Amino acid sequence: MIKIGITTSQMIMVDPSLCGNKKTSVNTSYVRSIQETGALPILIPCICSRAEMEQYVAMCDGFLLTGGMDIAPILYGAMPQHCGTFDYEVDVCLLEFVKLALESHKPILGICRGMQMVNIALGGTLIQDIPSQSSINHAFDYDGNIVHRIQLETNGEFQKLFAQDSLLVNSLHHQAIDTLGKGLKVEALAPDGIIEGISGDHLLGVQWHPELMGKIDPLMKRLFAWLCND
Ligand code: MN
Repeated sequence: MIKIGITTSQMIMVDPSLCGNKKTSVNTSYVRSIQETGALPILIPCICSRAEMEQYVAMCDGFLLTGGMDIAPILYGAMPQHCGTFDYEVDVCLLEFVKLALESHKPILGICRGMQMVNIALGGTLIQDIPSQSSINHAFDYDGNIVHRIQLETNGEFQKLFAQDSLLVNSLHHQAIDTLGKGLKVEALAPDGIIEGISGDHLLGVQWHPELMGKIDPLMKRLFAWLCND
């Protein structure tokens, strides 16, 4: 069975009776999207040692980098400016893991924060707060609902994968790629110029959430099929 490593997030419980307990978590929709391809999901702890990371990278055949909170701006050399909540310890750990995963040349699908972290790992930067730069609301929290159109790059990887010139997508992000990391190519743009998709060496990244769109647009399943069969 193909093994796909799925990154996780950390939730900190705010209810006083839960004493600030920290939970390692992942949205079930990501896990289901991998299961539906016939691959075996392997959940990777959001905090782990270098030795553990190396084991996961060796064990897995590909990696799904999931969405989540904003990313600590210091990781790309910026000071926080309208940045949302971030978890520095988790961000540092994920950045190290993503660098290891990239070095393995195994296929990677980065979704939202996952794509943004790949960009940072390759020397790129982020827009910290889209609302201060765009008239499109990219931060709708309607699960899976269509929010805007994206234009796919002519003859690009996405155009080949989806056999479409454009797609309608959901949008649940506060940040986006600013300057592009080394070796990355833009694959999709929103009408306001926000980067919505990238490709690289054995790598695809999307700013929208295909894991929530399987029922609305079955084409989205092609991203997960690519990851599990590349
Ligand atoms: Mn968007």
